[in-house]
Amino acid sequence: MNDCLFCKIVKGEIPSKKVYEDDTVYAFYDIDPQAPVHVLIIPKEHIKSAAKIDSGNSAVAAHCLEVAAVLSEELGLTDGFRIVTNTGDCAGQSVKHLHFHLLGGRDFTWPPG
Ligand code: AMP
Ligand code: ZN
Repeated sequence: MNDCLFCKIVKGEIPSKKVYEDDTVYAFYDIDPQAPVHVLIIPKEHIKSAAKIDSGNSAVAAHCLEVAAVLSEELGLTDGFRIVTNTGDCAGQSVKHLHFHLLGGRDFTWPPG
């Protein structure tokens, strides 16, 4: 999508600090980290949010989670981590391109605010 920030990051039109890339998934450090480790894992194809995951694109969504597991190990998150996918305005989704926040390196509370 032309006016999508994360599509532009995938295309290299906006710089990012890459952590991982393959044919279908891209991962990069969040510009405003909320934990010592804060990585965003996104499908390269534009999917608006988790509400738009369906049988046609669920494989890439699942692959994002597979990448999260690998990166958690590589980034040393052996004590645990949190994966967050804000979906829609009331959840605070500011970028309308599906992304999984991989957060770690500190303790987290539950329930979230
Ligand atoms: P969300 O609020 O769940 O939609 O998450 C969007 C995330 O994208 C936020 O954590 C932002 O800090 C992050 N973000 C916005 N612009 C950039 C950028 N240019 N590079 C890296 N992360 C970004
Ligand atoms: Zn996009």
